[in-house]
Amino acid sequence: MKSVTHPESHMMSYGYKPELSEGAIKPPVFQTSTFVFKTAEEGKSYFEIAYGIRQKEQDEELGLIYSRINNPNLEILENRLCLWEKAEDCAVFESGMSAISTVLLEFLKPGDLLLYSMPTYGGTDHFITHFLKKVAVEAIGFTPDQSKEEIIELVQSTGKADRLALVYIETPANPTNALVDIEMCKEICSHFEGKRDHIYLAVDNTYMGPIWSNPLQFGADLVLYSATKYIGGHSDLIAGAVLGNAEVMTRVKVLRTFLGNMPSPHTCWLLLRSLETLKVRMEQQARNTKYVADFLAQHPAVSKLYYLGALDPASRAHEIHQRQYTSSGAMIAFEIDGGEEEAFQFLNNLNLIKLAVSLGSTESLAQHPASMTHIGLSQDLKDRIGITEGLVRLSIGVENHEDLIADISYAFSKVQQKVAYI
Ligand SMILES: *Cc1c(COP(=O)(O)O)cnc(C)c1O
Repeated sequence: MKSVTHPESHMMSYGYKPELSEGAIKPPVFQTSTFVFKTAEEGKSYFEIAYGIRQKEQDEELGLIYSRINNPNLEILENRLCLWEKAEDCAVFESGMSAISTVLLEFLKPGDLLLYSMPTYGGTDHFITHFLKKVAVEAIGFTPDQSKEEIIELVQSTGKADRLALVYIETPANPTNALVDIEMCKEICSHFEGKRDHIYLAVDNTYMGPIWSNPLQFGADLVLYSATKYIGGHSDLIAGAVLGNAEVMTRVKVLRTFLGNMPSPHTCWLLLRSLETLKVRMEQQARNTKYVADFLAQHPAVSKLYYLGALDPASRAHEIHQRQYTSSGAMIAFEIDGGEEEAFQFLNNLNLIKLAVSLGSTESLAQHPASMTHIGLSQDLKDRIGITEGLVRLSIGVENHEDLIADISYAFSKVQQKVAYI
């Protein structure tokens, strides 16, 4: 199918042969734990590859062994995700956190230094600052407003620059859409590499990928996803994914085999269905978000708006956005005039938009970062990155934008203000 060049055209059939499944147009759920080998020799050769004892020959496919290692639903899903990311290989996981923790465990060892961007997802932050600390991996965080020189100095100040092994970033950062320059991070890796081993760069691309940004093109070695969000897109499953070149992915997949944190065939099957509409969903979500952001920008109750479509053209963030992303995305944060009380009144009066954490789904969601997703952050960090008591985060879905705006407008009208808005 050489003439088919766009991933969205492949999502209904790529990597699946109907003739192997009674002609069924869609892959069945391969609800099986194990697979029958034709011969003992065949079983041996599959195991050699699965355990990393030898590399695959050119054009050799790893045969089906056991559903912790591989399964048709898992493999079709991974092959289709590779198309979106233009990656050599992919490993899917039972959650975004298991994708992230597996990468951190594989690419760090006791005594190593990890450089990471702050804020990062709460679960990732906890894993870094509690679990990795326990196994003697030191971590140092930087914020998106810091320059390359400042970050290099920060690494040097640890006295462990020669042990820097991994740079882990999340961009855009949750909840304020702060951007981290992937190419700058690659330069920081190169700066400390010298003659030493490769320093790996991993990017959590949950907010913008795989449709609006592909970090591998900017020099990342690994791209990570909570597939619970846009990739799954219907708030009905938990999953994760990691993509990269064949060499790094062999390492990730071998560790997954032994941690056993792959998703079930049924979860993979649901994700295959989600991928068929990934692009149309995300594009509609981004269109709706623009309408909602325009409405918020002119509303007197909004004192600050964080939206990638409204960046100051003179800012560094604007330049990074132009280079790294092809859309303004479907996430907004804004500060309501007031504090927690006003934010809660707003949230309690939304009807169509649901009050829940998570993001990237077909339905719009709203939450209060200071008391919900980011409650665990120190006050100092909250202040540095703009998580105030009045901050509200919105994830915009596929509803009609007029209904979304009416819902938001009504909720604002219920906020008891010193000054009336209408
Ligand atoms: C949700 C999320 C995660 C964690 O993913 P789970 O699927 O909930 O385990 C990691 N990173 C980001 C940016 C997320 O939004």
